[in-house]
Amino acid sequence: MPYLQVPKGTRDIMGKEIVLWRKVEEVVYETAKNFGYEEIRTPIFESTELFTRGVGEGTDIVQKEMYTFTDKGGRSLTLRPEGTAPVMRAYLEHGFAVQQPRVKWFYLGPMFRYERPQAGRMRQFHQFGFEAIGFDSPACDAEIILIAWRIYERLGLHKLSLEMNSLGCPSCKFRYIETLQQFLQREIHSLCDTCKVRLEKNPLRVLDCKNEGCQTIFQSPSFPRLQDFLCEECSKHQETLLATLRFLDIPFSINPRLVRGLDYYTRTAFEIKTGELGAQDAVGGGGRYDNLSQALGGPKVAGVGFAAGIERMVLLLNKMGQGLHALETLVYLAPLDGEGELHLLVLGRRCEELGIPFYMDFADKTLKYHLKKAQKMKVRFVVLVGKAELQNSLFLLKDMFSGEQWTLSQEELLKKLQEEKNSA
Ligand SMILES: [Zn+2]
Ligand SMILES: [Zn+2]
Repeated sequence: MPYLQVPKGTRDIMGKEIVLWRKVEEVVYETAKNFGYEEIRTPIFESTELFTRGVGEGTDIVQKEMYTFTDKGGRSLTLRPEGTAPVMRAYLEHGFAVQQPRVKWFYLGPMFRYERPQAGRMRQFHQFGFEAIGFDSPACDAEIILIAWRIYERLGLHKLSLEMNSLGCPSCKFRYIETLQQFLQREIHSLCDTCKVRLEKNPLRVLDCKNEGCQTIFQSPSFPRLQDFLCEECSKHQETLLATLRFLDIPFSINPRLVRGLDYYTRTAFEIKTGELGAQDAVGGGGRYDNLSQALGGPKVAGVGFAAGIERMVLLLNKMGQGLHALETLVYLAPLDGEGELHLLVLGRRCEELGIPFYMDFADKTLKYHLKKAQKMKVRFVVLVGKAELQNSLFLLKDMFSGEQWTLSQEELLKKLQEEKNSA
């Protein structure tokens, strides 16, 4: 019988790659702590209605990409395709809107979308995101962008660029969409089939179509641009935000076609790219969602946030040659017989108490096996105990890099390992 395999679009994350995952996660936690954002963990599945209302009926996510199922109680549930709607659901459900309307939260975890799998895009994928709810100041949009920026910088991605746009409020958006639809109706013969459908259901989505025919239409000098339709309040918000970004020394460009696929975005939309590997890779994006709470039946609540995919980051870091050593084991404990096993496990316990990372193998293998394995693991030190060492309560320490070796008591050995660990 053939082995069972993981479902298409999912994968096991293991081995050396885990080091990069941990690195991304640690940077996210560290940056969140520094900026005063608290973690929130929402369920993996939610009622389907949360996403049809919170993400929007006309979006690709709701139309094609959701993992929706009926449970044994007859409820329609959906594996979360994104993190913002669940966070807003939690905010409303726990009464924050009334009791403590301003919160700063972040999340990290798996999301699910039925998409065509490709490098860095999976059906079970992982995202981290930051949400500042209850704040309408444009400086808060800038803080969110700064957090994203800092996370990428800390991860060693330096060739960063930021694209900015404003989607306006419902009234600016409504006026723009009307004009856009009229314009596109006249050009309908050049639109791709997908965009012909979008034109009716979600016309803003036409703007991020990659089809050549559609791209040609966008190049037209008379193509309507959203920022020409912004009301006074919305353009003031945008101007203040851009001025704040200049103060923060975060360079940006305006991309009038940056729309993002989700209905609840208002005003600020942004995307961050890196040129670290030559071509421009999008590494994250976000924006303001002042209409999300109302879409979910709540009061009017401002909000701004961003999300980024961890798979993409890990892929980039891996290509940049980071994190190629898996475990950071300092010492390999190699017993040669049963009595050696006892003594080395006692030593291992002391190592762990002192924070010295060790790996213990067992005595059913030869000295040759142990040395070969230690070498393969790139472990600096090996500790051996033979008959002679056992009789005198001593240990043989071998430096695999220099070839030197010492016979030491347990306390001398631990002292040396601690010094090595601190100087590493
Ligand atoms: Zn407006
Ligand atoms: Zn198109």
